[in-house]
Amino acid sequence: MPDPILLVADKNKEIYDMPKFNACGQAGSFLSVLAGKDLIPLPKGSNLYLLPDRQPIAFNPQTNSFQAIDDHLAVAAFLPPGYTQLFTTAYKETAGAELLPLFAYTPVAYYKNAFYVPAVHIDKRKNHDITLTDWGRVDRKINSFRKLRNRLIPHLISCAKCHGCPNAINFFLGKLECPLPVSPGCNARCLGCISLQAKGSCPSTQSRLKFTPKPEEIAEIALMHIGTASKPIVSFGQGCEGEPLLAAATIRKAIRLIRSQTPHGTIHMNTNGSLTNELELLFDAGLDSIRVSLNSAQSHIYTRYYAPRGYTFNAVKRSILTAKKHKKFVALNYLTMPGLTDREDEFNALHGLLSATNPDMIQWRNLNYDPQRYFKKLNLRSSSRLLGIKDLIVAVKENFPMLRYGYFNIPKEDY
Ligand code: SF4
Repeated sequence: MPDPILLVADKNKEIYDMPKFNACGQAGSFLSVLAGKDLIPLPKGSNLYLLPDRQPIAFNPQTNSFQAIDDHLAVAAFLPPGYTQLFTTAYKETAGAELLPLFAYTPVAYYKNAFYVPAVHIDKRKNHDITLTDWGRVDRKINSFRKLRNRLIPHLISCAKCHGCPNAINFFLGKLECPLPVSPGCNARCLGCISLQAKGSCPSTQSRLKFTPKPEEIAEIALMHIGTASKPIVSFGQGCEGEPLLAAATIRKAIRLIRSQTPHGTIHMNTNGSLTNELELLFDAGLDSIRVSLNSAQSHIYTRYYAPRGYTFNAVKRSILTAKKHKKFVALNYLTMPGLTDREDEFNALHGLLSATNPDMIQWRNLNYDPQRYFKKLNLRSSSRLLGIKDLIVAVKENFPMLRYGYFNIPKEDY
């Protein structure tokens, strides 16, 4: 079987293969030749990107060395939800290169007469597959909601129609997980925050909510969804808002209103886990599950990425422990970046965190950030052996066989 071949783009945005060069991937500062065993066909719903001011790096078998290809642009794939990348695209920045937009950049190779990517299909559910969306039906459903006097409806219409938010689309279609954005503010300043970026950075991929809805508005949306969907989830903490724990008082009232009407449906929160006391009150009110996001199990790396205001990584750990004390379902949203996540010291830290806090699930989600700038910002001073993302995922499973893997939230009927 021939080796996976480099794909490049030219100035006319034409993508083609260069058979004399082997395709490569990157993990932090490490370059690797892509091997067939790590590749899967480019999934349906992927997007291909040309990376401006970035020369592709390939392996030249004639010289037995890696080399940057002049006068060409690197090509990357953005994978649909459910796929975890094993490498990032290998490239060399040229003068004047700007920060890449907030996506994950997976290498693409030409292999077996098709495009292939190094990735694992970590969650086979089709929850966020918008290639299956019947937009005519979405429009008809949206029209049936327009008469409601609820400020979340126009916001969610914009999420569905302008940003293609899968949860907003699923709300209008009456299935799966319904978004309940509530909080305009946040107590962190993540490098890759998708709802707010500082001036001079790249654009955020979603617009942040500008108002705090009333508990009655939140409960109205949640109750409609719980009354319609099978195994419904209603979720605080969306890509279009800040940190929901900053709006905990409003959320508490909304949960009480929901639970005064129905015991059905999973009430869930995606959170940074910063405010343990607020979280505990929400569990008392009826919150069923949380997903806590973190880019690293090491405090100093977490802090460099999250830039937390008024809380520390220890508070995040306390929140996970508190959730478990209340017998709530806890997922970690482990923001995965090849070269950091699969470092041996990171694996040891994750092992310690999992042993100490015993969460129920890991979501292996790709961290959407310019990979080379990520490592510059983290400024890691020590080196560590890389396990490889695939072997890391296997090692975590072997060490914690009860831990569930996936990409999407789970309804309580399936805990
Ligand atoms: S915790 Fe969430 S909302 Fe807050 S800065 Fe980070 S990504 Fe943005």
